[in-house]
Amino acid sequence: MRIAILSRNESLYSTNRLAEEGRLRGHEVQIIDTLHCYMDITTSSPSVRYDGKPLPKFDAVIPRIGASITFYGSAVVRQFEMMGTFCLNESVAISRSRDKLRSLQLLSRRGVGLPRTGFASKPDDVKDLIRHVGGAPLVIKLLEGTQGIGVVLADSNKAAESIIEAFMGLKANILVQEFISEAGGADIRCFVVGNKVVAAMKRKGAEGEFRSNLHRGGTATLVKLTKEERATALNAAKVMGLGVCGVDILQSNRGPLVMEVNSSPGLEGIEVATGKNVAGLIYEYIESQAQQPINTRTKGKG
Ligand code: ADP
Ligand code: MG
Repeated sequence: MRIAILSRNESLYSTNRLAEEGRLRGHEVQIIDTLHCYMDITTSSPSVRYDGKPLPKFDAVIPRIGASITFYGSAVVRQFEMMGTFCLNESVAISRSRDKLRSLQLLSRRGVGLPRTGFASKPDDVKDLIRHVGGAPLVIKLLEGTQGIGVVLADSNKAAESIIEAFMGLKANILVQEFISEAGGADIRCFVVGNKVVAAMKRKGAEGEFRSNLHRGGTATLVKLTKEERATALNAAKVMGLGVCGVDILQSNRGPLVMEVNSSPGLEGIEVATGKNVAGLIYEYIESQAQQPINTRTKGKG
């Protein structure tokens, strides 16, 4: 098959791994810099131009859209959808997953377990907001944060109040969330491909750190999921409409709680921790899906 990987940087581990694995499987793989794609969006025969010429017709596109270029990146994916190309994740689902509030609202509406969460832009009554999500300890998150940056633990209501007010002063949108202390500074990353969790790892924060992000010094080990955790991850992926994603779960006393769903999950951590060829499993999915007629509600629409 002829396959494009949309990625800003071909030296990234995941981009490289996907390219290498695709070539090993006999596919013709091209890495395309998303921001260098340009297109005429008004023509009746949509195409994508790159480097002075139209791109060839691809059988499948693997979008690896970084958080900083979601807006342009999802428009490029949408253009490929309009050309009838199979895209591993749909543009609508990618932009949906990047909006934390929209994601949490969708997941909550469909009954997926979540930590109790409030959000605010300019609350007149910060004390009431804090009370409303159950009081300290609380986690306060910047809406635009990634890799654990912008996630703060407030031990007391007083601390929570000052942090919220500081963020408000910076005009930042925030999430105020119940702190799941029994998770013990760990979370579970479930890697979903199609309708299967193909690999899962437990990430544990460094000593004294409640954030388990590998970028913050966390370590990852293989984990066996419970039935409930597996079902929760699959349900979250389905609600988000993502073919491939990483679902992050906190283990709480009242069962698995979804923290976030990532539409471009990294391969390095999960392949090393589980010893699984996750890139290969992604291609198995692409090979089975790209043969089918594209038939979804949202393709190329939103
Ligand atoms: P980011 O998008 O920056 O990764 P997350 O929401 O995933 O932000 O939070 C980073 C880490 O902080 C998580 O991986 C988890 O270990 C910890 N964490 C986040 N929210 C909570 C919570 N409500 N209770 C306990 N730990 C949390
Ligand atoms: Mg995270």
